[in-house]
Amino acid sequence: MHKHDMLIVGAGLAGLRAAFEGITAGLSVAVITKVHPLRSHSCAAQGGVNAAINKQDNWEDHAYDTVKGSDYLGDQDSIDIMCKEAPQAVLDLDDMGCPFSREDDGSIAQRAFGGASFPRTAYAADRTGHAMLHTLWEQSIKNGVQVFDEYHLLEITVDKKSGRASGAIAVNIATGKIEQFASKSILIATGGYGRLFHSNTNAMINTGDGIALAMKAGAPAADLEFVQFHPTGLKSSGILISEGVRGEGAYLIGKDGKRFMQKYAPNKLELASRDVVSRSEMMEIMNGNGEDGAIFLDVRHLGKELILERLPQIRQLSIDFEGVDPIDAPIPVKPTCHYTMGGIRTDKLGMSNYLPGLFAAGEAACVSVHGSNRLGANSLLEGIVFGKITGKEMVRYMTEEGKAQPATDTSDLANVQRDVANLKARKKEGGVRAHDIREKLTKDLDMYCNVFREEKTLLKARKSVEKAKSDFEKVYVDDKADEFNTDLLTTIELGNLIILAEGTVESAIARKESRGAHTREEYPDRDDENWMKHSIASWNHNKNGIELDYEEVRTTGNPKYAPAVRSY
Ligand SMILES: Cc1cc2nc3c(=O)[nH]c(=O)nc-3n(C[C@H](O)[C@H](O)[C@H](O)COP(=O)(O)OP(=O)(O)OC[C@H]3O[C@@H](n4cnc5c(N)ncnc54)[C@H](O)[C@@H]3O)c2cc1C
Repeated sequence: MHKHDMLIVGAGLAGLRAAFEGITAGLSVAVITKVHPLRSHSCAAQGGVNAAINKQDNWEDHAYDTVKGSDYLGDQDSIDIMCKEAPQAVLDLDDMGCPFSREDDGSIAQRAFGGASFPRTAYAADRTGHAMLHTLWEQSIKNGVQVFDEYHLLEITVDKKSGRASGAIAVNIATGKIEQFASKSILIATGGYGRLFHSNTNAMINTGDGIALAMKAGAPAADLEFVQFHPTGLKSSGILISEGVRGEGAYLIGKDGKRFMQKYAPNKLELASRDVVSRSEMMEIMNGNGEDGAIFLDVRHLGKELILERLPQIRQLSIDFEGVDPIDAPIPVKPTCHYTMGGIRTDKLGMSNYLPGLFAAGEAACVSVHGSNRLGANSLLEGIVFGKITGKEMVRYMTEEGKAQPATDTSDLANVQRDVANLKARKKEGGVRAHDIREKLTKDLDMYCNVFREEKTLLKARKSVEKAKSDFEKVYVDDKADEFNTDLLTTIELGNLIILAEGTVESAIARKESRGAHTREEYPDRDDENWMKHSIASWNHNKNGIELDYEEVRTTGNPKYAPAVRSY
């Protein structure tokens, strides 16, 4: 049994930022991660991080943009905290040595991003997440955070007597040994589940394990129906071309070679918020102005010099994965699953209201700063602000009401070991391969639960989830080895994805309005009277399925935040 005060699952920006708070407060901190920390998806973030650090800008405007961007579903107290703390959180990283791009006078450079009223996105060329994650990783090494890398979380344990989260069970990927961790508090910072869709910008590892396992442990998730489709994924692979490219002045054009955003967002054009731009692109494609299911991102007019200096990575991605050099030709792009607004429901400081001792931060959490639509560059920010705040809150919790060590039960370990052994022992005859279930499910969700949704298609998505669930009962693994058994791990990940698929589809069927990233064709308007509330999805063990409930949006009474028509 490993014993630590603070157990963190996930070594992306949120996890490592929280670890910094724990270790500098003198606690024993362990971080579990299924890949090396620097392979976390945070490392792939390109465009930048928002903060009102310019003297002409202010955090109130940032907060207003975020409330509006969220289509009024974001929790206003959390949004205020995030935007107010943003400048300091970015400066913390700067102090730690993060190599942000600079203006000529030495100040941190900032670019324009979608849905923002000021160019407030700080960046490090088009590799911002890379620079930020490396900085926090250096701090983790310097301060002696104990990292269990290539450990895959299998279960979150609960002390049944006190009802508190008590730790976790994880498999050491290198050896196959299943081990138990006891802790006074646990943070789930396992990122999002963009891999639920076949066309996506996400890393292979983004399967939402922590969210699904928290639901199973009794901490429900919120707002799973809200999935962000990024307007510029590469046509063939879904790989991301950052919004920063439009921030630098790129145009969206149809196959007729003309810009079309003036029809949909006359003021902000290409820099309207992501839900608006993705819907506009789909309209153009459906009206025949696309080519092979895509429209085009044109950067030619920005010139070779700027492209090479500020957008070197996206140029290389276009050449390598689409065969197009953007210096000479427009890049074929389409809306692609990018980010999941839903996650483990928490209070404004990151603790689950339903399972004491369990905290969540980053994309795995729903503190809800993004509501129904995240603004670009607000997610790296969420990671560093709520990594810090939640980390501090965990430290406080462990010195006050969470001081006593919750009880851990070794029978939990035995149960997980038995379940894994049973899965490995399943026979091939009459069985189904995880890969086949996953291909079918993710392609069906692309078809039936995408940018535009309607009852008819959502019911098909529900059928597909039911089929995946029943096939999963018969899933088998070919590889029976203990060491590096990726066949087994991807199968376990699929089990988690199926839970999130059910949550996403059921919440989408239930929500009879259009808001942010969720567009219902039969209900084209936002319905604040009935639907300004979060969907809460719990896992019901007896029924082996999702149960839905609702929670009011947390409002602050700020008159500027009153719901209004959202136009860009
Ligand atoms: C291509 C791309 C570009 C982006 N660009 C931007 C941008 O420019 N600006 C912006 O604000 N946002 C951007 N985003 C979004 C942003 O990068 C992510 O939302 C954010 O980095 C998530 O950070 P995180 O710390 O929550 O999780 P991640 O960085 O996703 O880390 C998750 C961690 O959890 C671990 N983990 C997961 N499951 C398990 C398990 N079962 N067991 C053990 N460990 C586990 C992983 O190993 C990993 O360490 C981008 C996203 C993508 C995909």
